[in-house]
Amino acid sequence: MIDISQLNNVTVADDKKTAVIGGGAKISETIAAADAAGVLIMTGNCNGVSTLGALLGGGYGNTMGMFGFGVDSILEMRVVTADGSTRVVSSTKEKDLFWAMRGAGPNFGIVTSATVKAYATSEDERSAWCGALVFTPDKLEQVVQAVQDLELSSHEVTFLYFASSGPPAHAPVVIVSLWMYRGTPETGKVTFKSLYDIGPVVDTTRVAPYTAWNAAGDPFCAHSKRKPSFTAGLDRLDTKAWRATWDSFVDFQKKPGAQESLILLETYPMNEVRFAGESSAAFPHRKTRFQVIVMAWYDDPSLDDEAVEFGKGIRSLWQGSDGAEKKATYINFGHGDEPLEEIYGDNLAHLRELKREWDPENRFNQWFNIV
Ligand SMILES: Cc1cc2nc3c(=O)[nH]c(=O)nc-3n(C[C@H](O)[C@H](O)[C@H](O)COP(=O)(O)OP(=O)(O)OC[C@H]3O[C@@H](n4cnc5c(N)ncnc54)[C@H](O)[C@@H]3O)c2cc1C
Repeated sequence: MIDISQLNNVTVADDKKTAVIGGGAKISETIAAADAAGVLIMTGNCNGVSTLGALLGGGYGNTMGMFGFGVDSILEMRVVTADGSTRVVSSTKEKDLFWAMRGAGPNFGIVTSATVKAYATSEDERSAWCGALVFTPDKLEQVVQAVQDLELSSHEVTFLYFASSGPPAHAPVVIVSLWMYRGTPETGKVTFKSLYDIGPVVDTTRVAPYTAWNAAGDPFCAHSKRKPSFTAGLDRLDTKAWRATWDSFVDFQKKPGAQESLILLETYPMNEVRFAGESSAAFPHRKTRFQVIVMAWYDDPSLDDEAVEFGKGIRSLWQGSDGAEKKATYINFGHGDEPLEEIYGDNLAHLRELKREWDPENRFNQWFNIV
């Protein structure tokens, strides 16, 4: 285990077009530095994970409709490779390694810092309309259908959760979380009219500054308890499968100590992010419309077996209802038991060649090890 959490500097260039992010900088640290310098930087949406940990696997985040995937933001990296040397890699220096690192980074080296794109903004331009709409469970099919039918433009993002209403009741509820860059209550309600028409019972949407965009996720992004999670990448949502998902969720969530368990569906605008092209980086799954995750969350180890059974059951329910020819799993959401073909897609053969070249003794072998 190599702890790089102290490599957490984030420095924005004077011309505000680039930033250098330390290998261990958390997303909250990157956003704080970006905001202070008056720029936006493409990051994931969870304050507690590391910026580059998320970016190296692909990098989903609120601004990706505008700026592309996290891997598309990376211009250059300083990498310690398996032979112990430090190299600078980019689209012109060690091109193959640069390609491999962006999607399979943890298999090839340790990134001590990365230079990424930054976007100069005024304070007004660092705001978004965001928050949650809460629905009663009888509205589930309508909500799932409305989420499926949304045609998100480049500055919009939508998440669907099955989660607890909070203590003390911990009633299971359906939540849709909305994000709209530079949106207002008026434009938000027009854009997401199909969801408002279903009749949410709670609406927490508001205009929030850049530094608060991820705040709603802080409770579930916290490091606490046991959280085995399982995921799938889907192209289509089947309302019957989502009703079955709900029933299974409600059963598990009422177990003592498991109330905070959740189901999460993320959907991002996909047109811009496809633009960089499937083979531009090792990250393979640019066309997947929905990322879905089931996360059992509890304290008592005696629930472990049931949690895994619950997670695997929901994952196969989702994969069985998608109709896709090939399974596509986002490496950063994977459980760890998925076949390499599902993780690295059509890039696996080339990654195997590069792995033999750059890490012949397989020193970097902890996460979806390319063998
Ligand atoms: C609550 C939660 C929310 C999330 N939200 C998002 C999101 O919005 N968008 C998204 O894309 N992903 C998201 N993820 C997934 C996240 O990107 C992955 O879990 C990621 O691997 C976390 O990286 P880490 O460095 O924090 O974790 P770690 O467990 O420390 O690292 C994960 C892997 O990356 C490697 N690694 C980390 N840093 C480096 C580095 N500098 N150089 C080389 N290898 C490195 C580690 O060796 C390890 O193999 C989320 C995860 C959680 C748990």
